[in-house]
Amino acid sequence: TRTIAVSGSASGIGKALTELLRARGDEVIGIDLVEAEVVADLSTEEGRAGAVEGVLERSGGTLDGVVACAGLSGPLTLAVKVNYFGAVALLEGLRPALARAERPRAAAVGSISGTQPVDEIVLRSCLNGDERAAVEAADEAVDKGRGRTLYPSSKAALAQWLRRSAVSPAWAGEGIALNAIAPGVVLTPMSAPLFADERMRKVMDEAVPMPLNGYADAVVIAEALAWLVSPANSHMAGQVIYVDGGAEAVLRGSEV
Ligand code: NAD
Repeated sequence: TRTIAVSGSASGIGKALTELLRARGDEVIGIDLVEAEVVADLSTEEGRAGAVEGVLERSGGTLDGVVACAGLSGPLTLAVKVNYFGAVALLEGLRPALARAERPRAAAVGSISGTQPVDEIVLRSCLNGDERAAVEAADEAVDKGRGRTLYPSSKAALAQWLRRSAVSPAWAGEGIALNAIAPGVVLTPMSAPLFADERMRKVMDEAVPMPLNGYADAVVIAEALAWLVSPANSHMAGQVIYVDGGAEAVLRGSEV
């Protein structure tokens, strides 16, 4: 049995992944604000430390996989705290436990939004590991009506951190495969409010064109994440794979 920690396990993609892995016989240690083996708030330093500690306790100190799925959208500073700092702290905090496993794998969840315009100060502060500066810049962006850059900034920063880290001695050097899935629009409680409003839906369809099969069910993203953390994935490192109905190819088609 492989033991895999999944954040955001109570809803949407994380929940679908948890169910899929359990059905395949893996042991999953879920991390979420509610209804999880490890209840923790990944927006705070204490919460992140508690999450790492809780997972280490339950796993006995060795982990075969970690998937950082918890996140939120919206023009909020909180998105930067959870989507970037929460995800990185969880992956870094559990890295030593992964290094003890025989075929360790880790994955994060990016977004097609990571290809959209970002707040450069927020992005740079994230990559510098300076949460205070990132939060300050994010608050300012919200004040100035540029809050919608924060979700893309958090996901772009996560993708850059991942590409940089995955090939370092700490990850690849320890035999840990680290990659991400970047979804387009997925039918989850997070995206549900967008579908309630005809105008919002139109804006979204234009921002995220999905020529292949349209919006995805959460299980589609879960299947891809499950492969990333499976033993079969022995040689992929630092990749952000778009499972987005072709949106990235449409939006960035000319950049190869
Ligand atoms: P969701 O809202 O259904 O699930 C997210 C989960 O994360 C929830 O259970 C929530 O409680 C948890 N979470 C949020 N803040 C947390 C915190 N501070 N501490 C601990 N847990 C916290 O959303 P989803 O659509 O399943 O999203 C999962 C991931 O997929 C996110 O990272 C999101 O950015 C990404 N994503 C979603 C879509 C989409 O269209 N739904 C598209 C691209 C990327």
